[in-house]
Amino acid sequence: MPVRVYELAKQLNMSSKELIAKLKELKVEVKGHMSSIDDETAGIVKEELKPKPKEKIELKTLPPQEVVVKANELRLKLPISVKDLSNKLSLKPNDIIKTLIKHNIFATINQMLPEEAAGLIGKDFGFDIKPLPTEEEEIIEIHKREDDPSKLVHRAPIVTFMGHVDHGKTSLLDVVRKTNVTERESGGITQHIGAYEVALGKGHITFLDTPGHEAFTAMRARGANITDIVVLVVAADDGIMPQTIEAIDHAREANVPIVVAINKIDKPGADISKVKKQLAELNLASEDWGGKTITVGVSAKTKEGVDHLLEMLLLEAEMLELKANPSRLATGVVVEAKLSKGGGPIATAIVTNGTLKVGDIIICGSHWGKVRAMIDDKGHRVKEAPPSKPVEILGLSGVVSAGEVVYCVEDEKKARDIALTKQEKNKEKIAVSAKRITLEELYRQIKEGSIKELKIIVKADVQGSVGALKDSLLKIPSKDVQLKIIHSGVGDINESDIMLAAASNAVVIGFHIQISQEAEAQAKEGEVDVRLYRVIYEAISDVRAAMEGLLEPHIKESLLGRAEVRQIFKISNLGQIAGCSVTKGTITRNVPLKVLRGDDIVFQGKMSSLKHLKDDVREVKEGFECGIGIPEFKDIKVGDIIEVYKIEKIAKKLE
Ligand code: GDP
Repeated sequence: MPVRVYELAKQLNMSSKELIAKLKELKVEVKGHMSSIDDETAGIVKEELKPKPKEKIELKTLPPQEVVVKANELRLKLPISVKDLSNKLSLKPNDIIKTLIKHNIFATINQMLPEEAAGLIGKDFGFDIKPLPTEEEEIIEIHKREDDPSKLVHRAPIVTFMGHVDHGKTSLLDVVRKTNVTERESGGITQHIGAYEVALGKGHITFLDTPGHEAFTAMRARGANITDIVVLVVAADDGIMPQTIEAIDHAREANVPIVVAINKIDKPGADISKVKKQLAELNLASEDWGGKTITVGVSAKTKEGVDHLLEMLLLEAEMLELKANPSRLATGVVVEAKLSKGGGPIATAIVTNGTLKVGDIIICGSHWGKVRAMIDDKGHRVKEAPPSKPVEILGLSGVVSAGEVVYCVEDEKKARDIALTKQEKNKEKIAVSAKRITLEELYRQIKEGSIKELKIIVKADVQGSVGALKDSLLKIPSKDVQLKIIHSGVGDINESDIMLAAASNAVVIGFHIQISQEAEAQAKEGEVDVRLYRVIYEAISDVRAAMEGLLEPHIKESLLGRAEVRQIFKISNLGQIAGCSVTKGTITRNVPLKVLRGDDIVFQGKMSSLKHLKDDVREVKEGFECGIGIPEFKDIKVGDIIEVYKIEKIAKKLE
């Protein structure tokens, strides 16, 4: 007996519309819900659409737990018994048991439901059931709670010096320290503890001792952005240089305000107005140039202007209204950590909120401790460290990492438990890195709504290409995701680029350049997506395809060797041979090759023969000559570049 679509839909417990869609997938043509389907087809369809038995979820009997409720989010200590869950949801235990059966889970009233099963029930009854936070999450939550505004007081700004190499960052930091720490205070010695505090008439300033944007962004990549103000150091005789621009991009990406110090004004070649003009072109116009950026002329050599710079930093800090609550449990960030001469772990931390006291219990990364002693940057033992104060902490159970957060806890046992749990976890997986964006992942994240902005770092061999690539990328139309170029520059991809990408969740695109070995290792470890291109069009088309969810499996090419064609020979039984000189790496047989002429790829394929002198060889190393036969490419010319690659296919991930 033929059956109508709507009847079959009823039998399968679905709507006619759903069934018609499924039939279409099964290539069964129907006109509408009144169409007939013959017996045999109906049988096949039924078999195909029969609900598949779900994997049985294992149930264990565990002790009952408590509940915390937030809007429709239900935070439960899981697993939870059927009975307890029914109470929490104001349902009868039977309702839960019946619903569980629907999901192929068979449970008794006292049985414990794990997170997955409780989650299914929650979904069916309109709740989002989540496990209670771990002890560590609870502590972080407490530390993140907003302060009562009446308890807030001003705190000192935390300042980092950045700028091009040799423009005088270290010299300025030294001058600031030496002129403001009196001999009596320091006992003639200044301790280098990773950060130091300067007391001025109108307030304090804390300086991070490691200048440069690499350290700044490395801290950010670990989630610790403690810098309140960046001092951009520009040498008056040199002006804006590539690393100055890098520093500006790093600071802007972190949303940290910039104060400019034009240094070396004592030098005969100093040209302050030229620097100010360059700054204005970078949207950092000083006040006398009609802008808003505080700009101070200084000299680390003569100390001219340094006091004024400090005053201006206090002024900027005042505008930022930096506040903290000294009367709460302390939170801090580690800026440096090491083993002391005596072998005990020491960490320099800057307190970001609250007051850290000797005797406090702290956790930091996978270590814990009772603060045994604290030493400030002048070498004095201190009993308390208020917000923004840098101190060396003694008493931690091990050496922690820079960028790690210190949390003060009330309960010693809790601190120890948390540290031990983390150590266990670390053993399982060292360095749990955050999931970074890749072009392959982009579309899924756009659809999920978890990404609204695709951040890109563009590096190329020449300024013209940087500009062309940036322009073309920014022209890609998209309504779902906005493309933002957070940094661009000329030169190979370096560690600072990778760090910025990791801190900002950006993709790095390189054109006609390489990636340094250290940067490549870092990118691998931090799961940063780095793509190198030789043709601008390919870069644009990959980004566009990624935005549309059409990106083909990513082919990762690693260059094995490069050779330049110096001469063309014709050999009777072999045909045409390109006499080459290997200029980089190793030329290897049986791997894909490209022939480049200028910026164009003129051939892609394989070689048929590789010779060194008269011998057939498998590889020829840099500095040697070789003969390459590519019978499929007749047009090879002197001056062409032959590159050989190792190809790795990274498949597009399926949902
Ligand atoms: P950094 O790489 O930015 O940390 O730069 P340094 O602080 O190491 O300074 C680089 C060089 O510039 C050193 O030789 C300093 O002595 C010199 N220098 C720094 N500041 C000044 C300055 O204000 N005037 C002059 N004449 N030289 C300076």
